[in-house]
Formats: sequence, structure tokens, C-alpha cells
Amino acid sequence: MLICAGALIESSGQIHRPGHLRMDREIITQIGTSLNSQVGEEVLHLPDLTLAPGWINLHAHLELASLFRELMPGKDFPFWLKQVLARLPGLNSETRRESIQRSAQDALRTGTTSIVSITSDLHAMAGLSSTAARVWWALEFMDIQSQPEVSATVERAMAWLSRNPANPWHLALSPHAPYTASPKLYQEILTSCSIHKIPFTTHLAESPEETSLLAGKETSFRDILPKEPPRTDFGKSQSPVAWCQTNQTLPEDAILAHGNELQPSDLPYLKERKVTLVHCPTSHEWFGRKSFPFQLLQNNGIPVSLGTDSPASSPNLPLDLRQEVRLFRQKYSHVSPHEAWQMITTIPARALGCESNLGNLQDGCWADWVGWRVPLDQDPYSAILESQDPAELTCVAGKITRHEKI
Ligand SMILES: [Zn+2]
Repeated sequence: MLICAGALIESSGQIHRPGHLRMDREIITQIGTSLNSQVGEEVLHLPDLTLAPGWINLHAHLELASLFRELMPGKDFPFWLKQVLARLPGLNSETRRESIQRSAQDALRTGTTSIVSITSDLHAMAGLSSTAARVWWALEFMDIQSQPEVSATVERAMAWLSRNPANPWHLALSPHAPYTASPKLYQEILTSCSIHKIPFTTHLAESPEETSLLAGKETSFRDILPKEPPRTDFGKSQSPVAWCQTNQTLPEDAILAHGNELQPSDLPYLKERKVTLVHCPTSHEWFGRKSFPFQLLQNNGIPVSLGTDSPASSPNLPLDLRQEVRLFRQKYSHVSPHEAWQMITTIPARALGCESNLGNLQDGCWADWVGWRVPLDQDPYSAILESQDPAELTCVAGKITRHEKI
């Protein structure tokens, strides 16, 4: 199939005008400015649209959309977490599936074609037959109440994926956070990630209360966490990253959500582990966090991506990455639209080990692209990121969807 658009963003800074893209089922086979149609080839003419790589959201909880505006930030982070943990058992499979489908659809309409979604209940997936966007199901584990069966859960998830081969679905694993997952659980998960070659992600260094708890101080986490058996790893680390280093809980290429509480002494270990940080600006603001240490990370060459987190802790119900970019650039105005673009394309693609599949529109990449109606004579990065309307056309794994303006 040949798509002839007004413009096309191929890769960082490389823009074609006009922009032509040829795809064969779910793979892009050719990019150029004047591709000729082959005999019998289907041709789609989109002279007013700019084709761009679909965006990648490295941190979302698709299953939590029903908690939008249900919770308040509260006096501290454990207060909010307690509310979420209390609500989780009440989210039945149907509610979760509805949230997942609605959020994936909303995200796609706003230009995101790939989502890493923290998934706390694999059973709820049983009746889910498709999602609008490509999803990495990041199976979440905690061991505060009982010991989870990591390998059995991974096997079950793989069997589920193989029963749904038509979907662009992938697996990832996620120990929830150092306060709800012990070092032993982290190590079991990172071993499983290395055996199955799947991404590892975790919530880390999100709140000052987490830092205090890991340093052995009294915090309101005591209302949530069981006293028995006592965690012997608390009280030995001055920062969440130091806790990871002491307990060897991070694999290489770990994807770390938040990283609000970083110290300069954390940087060498983060670099050694080749981590990618995911900053979620609207959620960060909703909690009223202190400023995100972007400059520290940037100065040390640690990649930062932008994600949305969930509507349980953010006003960004449609998981629109443009909202995250705009809020981020209000705070860090030296970051150009082009640099911000990389934070939702090539940087997260690399974090997922998919740099030759996602983030760019090149020969051999997955056919995950978005058609935007923006002025063709303007800088496409800034025009698209500043746009308010939904994308006009999207394509995930070769499947094209046209979106109506509501
Ligand atoms: Zn989260």
C-alpha cells in the first residue's frame, strides 16, 4: 500500500515534502518524496496531512481510567496510595477492560500508538480481545500480603498473548516499588526479564515519604505496609537509587517511572545501569512535587522520556502526550519542540529495545504512524505538539483508523 501525504517526518530532523510511505501489512518498506505506485497497488492520497511516527508512552495504567477525579492528592503520598489500594479490589474485570479500551482509544486519537501499561490483574485480561494502540502489558507484582508466583504468571501471560496473535501486544514486568516489593521479588523479576528478554519497569524515587522509609525513618507508610515480617532492607539507604544499588535490584536498561527524589550521588549507578527515566508532568504537578531534576539527568546524559501515569493521579484523562510536552516545556523552555519530540519517540523506542521498529518512519520499521492536519509550511514538530485537534488518521501495525473530530 502506498500513502502519499503532504509531508512526512522520517527521523530526527529529516522531513520529506511531499512525504510518501509504502507499507506491506505491518511493516514500512519504503519512504521517499516521489514513490510511484506499482501495478494493482492500493494508493491513499492525503495531500493536506503530515505523517509522523506514532508516540510512545512509557508509563500509563490503562486499567485505572475509571478512577478519574475519584481521588485527591491528600496530605502525603501514602494517603493517596492507600485510597488506590482500597479501590483496586472493587475494579472488576469488566470495569478494567472498559478503562483499558477507552484509554487506548483516547491515546491513539491523540497521537500515541504505543503504551507501556502497568497491569495489576492479569485475570481481568481474559475477555479483552483487542486494543486500539500497541500495548506492552507490564505485569505488576508486590509481595506485601502474599508471595506472587512470578514465573507461573509470566507463563500464563505468554499463553494469553499466543492466543491473541493478531494484536500488537508485548510483555514487560514491573515490581511495583521498593516499599511494596522486596529485594528478593525485584531479583526474581529481573531474572525473568533477562530470560525472556522483556522490558523491566518500576516506580522509583517518587515521593519524599518513600525516601524516608528506605532510609529507616518513620513515615505514614506504616498504615499500609505489614509490620511482620520486618523488612531488613529498610534503614540502610539514603536514597531509593542507593537502595537499588545495595540490593542489586535494577537490570540494565531499566525503565524508571518518576525519579523525583534523585541525588547527585545516584547518577553513576543510573548511568551504569543505562536506565531511562519517565517523567509524568501533569501527575507531577497534580501531586505538587518539588521540581523534577531534569537538568541533573540531562547534564549526566541520562535519557528522559515523558509519560502520562494514570487518570487516578492526573487531569490528563485522554493520556494525551501533547499535554505532557506542553506542561514540560513551560517549565523547561530551553527544550526545543524537536528535543521534546525525541522524548516521546526515539528515546522511549530505545528504552524498549525497539529503536529499529519504532520512533522513526523508516524502511523496516513497524507501520505505526499518525496523520496530522497541520500547516504544511510550518515546523512540523512545533505545529503538531501545539495542536489541539485529534489526529486525523492513525495506523498501528498496518491497521489504519480514521478519527472524527468530536
Ligand atoms: Zn504509575
